[in-house]
Amino acid sequence: MNIKNKIMYSKNLTNTIIKNIKKTVQNETRYGKRPPGLAVIWMKNNTSTEVYIKNKKYACKKVGFYLEEWILKNSTSEKDIINLIKKLNKNDKIDGILIQLPLQNQINTRRIIEHIHPKKDIDGFHPYNIGCLCQKNPKLRPCTPKGIISLLKEYKIEIKGLNALVIGASNIVGRPMSLELLLAGCTTTITHRFTINLNKYIKNADLIIVAVGKPNFLDQQKFKKNAIIIDVGINKISSKDKIVGDVNFDSVLPKVSYITPVPGGVGPMTVVTLLQNTLDAYQNKHYYHSFQ
Ligand code: NAD
Repeated sequence: MNIKNKIMYSKNLTNTIIKNIKKTVQNETRYGKRPPGLAVIWMKNNTSTEVYIKNKKYACKKVGFYLEEWILKNSTSEKDIINLIKKLNKNDKIDGILIQLPLQNQINTRRIIEHIHPKKDIDGFHPYNIGCLCQKNPKLRPCTPKGIISLLKEYKIEIKGLNALVIGASNIVGRPMSLELLLAGCTTTITHRFTINLNKYIKNADLIIVAVGKPNFLDQQKFKKNAIIIDVGINKISSKDKIVGDVNFDSVLPKVSYITPVPGGVGPMTVVTLLQNTLDAYQNKHYYHSFQ
């Protein structure tokens, strides 16, 4: 296979998704109905957060969503955030509530997420939505893993029955990724920092999702020839002012059947999936009867 055809750029797919969402919003609002609305809650705690928020806000505006932004102060208490969420849960203009993590250390993120109404949980992190995914009944699904499945489908990569390995077990990426892969019919293994002999699992995998947060974590010696590699990592190399993934891209390229680049692979899929989830929350609004 031509080396270029192995690289799973997400640009075409993200452009198509954005175009379709924009068109749907135009159709929905043509006769005076309100547009989908997203509330973004975040804290200026590091430059990465500011970049993520900027990208998400830009994408929302591009498709015509209504946007509310709440920037928390360092002094904002957990109670204040919960009260804000309660108000947004009842706000009819808002279909999705996005809490950009991390928040301040003293805030219990789990408690915050549990207060988001499950039908407005467009990040898919609420225990109700994770539970539904776990029980093969997906509702709002975490954006990065769902975006990865969409990208695999776009490239017509059949993953049913494959030995899939997830490296990294965070609530945001690794854990829900393993549930998505299971749902897609993979034989799924999830590994993390305490895994003994990680190489044993890497050698056996047909599909490897790397979500560790360490540059060059995966290199070519370790995995099977023709494996599919999905690189979730976003690591800033400040000396070079560039972003790299968790995979040593150049060294693994000759050995893989497919690979996602960083940047231009998984990252943009996360953003458009957030838009899709918000649109879903808007359109499915009346179909949720629980938690009302
Ligand atoms: P995290 O720090 O919460 O989790 C990292 C995981 O890696 C943990 O489960 C840890 O046990 C595991 N790990 C660490 N060292 C390991 C080792 N030596 N062997 C095996 N496992 C090990 O990070 P996260 O939030 O899951 O993010 C992971 C990476 O993905 C980061 O680079 C982050 O910036 C990136 N990310 C990208 C997107 C995207 O849209 N592309 C979205 C979210 C996160």
